[in-house]
Amino acid sequence: MNDLITVQGVVLSAMPVGEYDKRIVLLTRELGKISAFARGSRRLNSPFMAAANPFVFGTFTLYEGRNSYNLNQVSVTHHFVELAGMQPGIYYGYYFLELADYFGREGTDEREMMNLLYVTVKALLNPKINDRLVRCVYELRTMAEQGLCPQVFACAACGREPEEGETVFFSQKEHGILCGTCAMGEREAVRISDAALLAMRFIVQAPMGKLYTFALKEEVLRELEFLVGRYIALNTDRRFKSLDILEVMVK
Ligand SMILES: [Zn+2]
Repeated sequence: MNDLITVQGVVLSAMPVGEYDKRIVLLTRELGKISAFARGSRRLNSPFMAAANPFVFGTFTLYEGRNSYNLNQVSVTHHFVELAGMQPGIYYGYYFLELADYFGREGTDEREMMNLLYVTVKALLNPKINDRLVRCVYELRTMAEQGLCPQVFACAACGREPEEGETVFFSQKEHGILCGTCAMGEREAVRISDAALLAMRFIVQAPMGKLYTFALKEEVLRELEFLVGRYIALNTDRRFKSLDILEVMVK
């Protein structure tokens, strides 16, 4: 038997293979994003039956095979089975996993993305938190964790920090806010409200455990959805399948 490797991770996706097996994609602290073969996981009495599914957080013991890792043992810490019965919560969840998969790389420490997914799924399960806000927070914080954070503290062109009450703009082209002077002639720059800017600043730097401790007025949420949605679309090179499904479900 090959050496066993133990990793902390979360299952991002699970694909059936043949009659009884699955191939799962894991986001892990120790190995980054990897795929693993879960032999027999579709058999009723398999110890992997419950574990080889999306949204499962746990400790995974693996051994390296010729082409991929193989699952040897799983100790599930959180499963979030409740999410499966929530609509449209589950569709938000699948989109969040797909976004994490898009940015995940083998060999990187994915601890922060795992933490982000964990607090985000908990927020989806909380009926007091608006799913649309959860989506904005998760999207923007994901960009920040991936080194693609928009500049929200100082003007992206001249570097000056706007004063309180000053009119500020958001430019997709410049990846951040612009002061009034720098926004002149930038036709795509749109005015950003104080409340939306404050929310963005909070989202990119709050401790993970505090991310979902605020609410927004509908008009501010709409503004944030517009800005963050555009930002994601312009800074990724794929249309997310789960996003298409989500957008049909919430219409
Ligand atoms: Zn400026």
